[in-house]
Amino acid sequence: MPSWLKNTLALFSVPAGKPDLIAAQITAFTRQLPLLYFVLLANTLFVAATHIHVAPAWLALYIPALLTVLCIIRIWSWARLPRRELDHEASVARLQSTVLMVAGFGAAFTVWGLTLYPYGDAYQKLHVAYYMSITLIACILCLMHVRAAALLLTITVLVPFSLFFLTRGEPVMTAIAANVIIVGLAVMFVVFTHYRDFARMVEQRTELRRRQEEAEQLSRENLRLANSDSLTGLPNRRCFFTSIAHHLSAASATGETMAVGLVDLDGFKAVNDLYGHTVGDQLLIDASKRLMAHPGWNASFARLGGDEFGVILRGASHQAEIENFGREICTLLRQPYLLPNVTAEISASIGFAAYPMAGDTVERLIENADYALYQAKQKASGTAVVFNTDHALDIKKLNQIDQLLRNADLDREMTVVYQPIVNLESGRTVSAEALARWHSPVLGDVAPAQFIKAAERSDLINRLTVLLYRKALADMKSWPKSVGLSFNLSARDVASQDTILHLAAITLKSGIDPRRIEFEVTETAVMADFDQALSALTRLRSIGLRIGLDDFGTGYSSLGYVHRLPLDKVKIDIQFISDIADNRTARSIVKSVIDLARNLGFASLAEGVETEEQARIIHAMGCGFAQGYFFGRPMPGADLGRLAAGDSLSINSA
Ligand code: C2E
Ligand code: MG
Ligand code: MG
Repeated sequence: MPSWLKNTLALFSVPAGKPDLIAAQITAFTRQLPLLYFVLLANTLFVAATHIHVAPAWLALYIPALLTVLCIIRIWSWARLPRRELDHEASVARLQSTVLMVAGFGAAFTVWGLTLYPYGDAYQKLHVAYYMSITLIACILCLMHVRAAALLLTITVLVPFSLFFLTRGEPVMTAIAANVIIVGLAVMFVVFTHYRDFARMVEQRTELRRRQEEAEQLSRENLRLANSDSLTGLPNRRCFFTSIAHHLSAASATGETMAVGLVDLDGFKAVNDLYGHTVGDQLLIDASKRLMAHPGWNASFARLGGDEFGVILRGASHQAEIENFGREICTLLRQPYLLPNVTAEISASIGFAAYPMAGDTVERLIENADYALYQAKQKASGTAVVFNTDHALDIKKLNQIDQLLRNADLDREMTVVYQPIVNLESGRTVSAEALARWHSPVLGDVAPAQFIKAAERSDLINRLTVLLYRKALADMKSWPKSVGLSFNLSARDVASQDTILHLAAITLKSGIDPRRIEFEVTETAVMADFDQALSALTRLRSIGLRIGLDDFGTGYSSLGYVHRLPLDKVKIDIQFISDIADNRTARSIVKSVIDLARNLGFASLAEGVETEEQARIIHAMGCGFAQGYFFGRPMPGADLGRLAAGDSLSINSA
């Protein structure tokens, strides 16, 4: 089809390809078409009235009556149109039929008007011409939102009207016809312009709405991303905190109970280190799927980062109930994970804090759940612990320790005691481990496990370490030169370059041979930041100080790293020594650690030797050194000096 024909046909068709324009046209017509039919009807009745006595009844009465009925039907049809329920196809069909109907009505009224024209006097004739032209203009204006309808009506009325009056041979009527043609064309021009603007406006509105929807979609997506964990698809830490706050306010309004839980995977780090991050990631994804699919409880899970998950449990209030849930989760996560090329087994520990007993703010619940998690890990990995009143008392005590320690006169209240370290071959005390003691004027003696942690929490640790080290060096001055010192460093000391430099400087200044001194670091201290630990230990070693790895065997990934550390000694943790006499597994672990140490060129020391039997066993296994109540309890520096001086203790005479 040639394009001009296509364009011309387009002028007479409704824009079916533009749903929004069609909808807007239907809306406009719903308002304007009843008006159109009303104008048409009223004007027609006026003309019929002026011609009732001059024209035959069929023309002046019956036809107008029929047209009136048709008009009323149309008004009614538009007025009751269920605009919102009309779908696109129905709207197009309606507009198409309306365009045709408008043309039909135009033709019918035109024929009627022109048939009526010969009846009556000049006034009546003029009335007919006036009626036809003014009604035409009014109807075009009512149809201006649908160009096809306006155009078709103009043609069906204006063409016969003009031809009729131009050929009457009456100059006045000819002039009227010319007037109407001019006005008709001008109105058509306005209609075309208006229609173009109208269509454009609808298009812009559609575009605006599309963009708005896009922006909303984007912001919804952003919100989803900001609140979900990209690896597992679970809600993330941020979302978890917001949800707790949300459920808390709901719970406080309704009196409902809820519990917040923190889940930590035990042994995940080892899987990650051993098999790589891809396998580690897959394990986390599998673990998340298990959690999400866990039925029977009103619980929602989140991934808080690393191998830590969070859970909000609603509707459970009793400790036993929460523990039950926790046990189920632990069992669920303990099942083997079938990962690419490997089957991994890990366990999970959970700490819960229930609202309102364990706190009524997000921070307090998280803090207490964290404390319960810590307890779960201490107790035995793979269990769930619910925060209880005993824990609250413990925390109170810890806070008190924090407070008192911060205000303590460290120099006066802190002392150092020494536990002998014995060479198992010679039976002689060759060294001593410095152990800090705090006598608080308020609390009395506080265990080092407690105050060292408190000092780490309150940033006091570096100062305390330096102070204790000075005291230990001073005590050492009275010892035989053959006796060395083992001194514990905390993770925060290893992480602090300043402290490391300070300790090195103090050592050099003391005049004591650095080779007599060994710093003990724990695996956790080293693993916290391996590179920093490596550089700190290397620095200490470069001036002749020695390094021992304390509590060996309590961490997870030790074996992979141990050979990269500049070590002199490995201290086998007390937990393996305490049941070495009756436990074959403990024996084989200790044996393999001793062998490993020997192969790597490190000495080995057994901690916590309490019986002669234990001493014999480890000696037989090739362990070089030992320490424990069997050889001597921690004692003041002067006593240690005396013991070492007169020491001729051997394993056989102990
Ligand atoms: P650690 O370094 O592993 O010290 C050994 C702990 O085991 C000491 O407890 C010691 O008294 C205890 N012990 C020794 N022999 C036996 C035994 O035969 N049986 C039993 N059951 N226990 C034995 P202590 O003095 O309570 O110290 C606990 C922990 O506190 C130490 O563990 C160490 O991690 C930390 N610590 C102590 N003093 C210091 C210090 O000056 N600085 C730092 N950073 N930490 C210290
Ligand atoms: Mg130690
Ligand atoms: Mg130890």
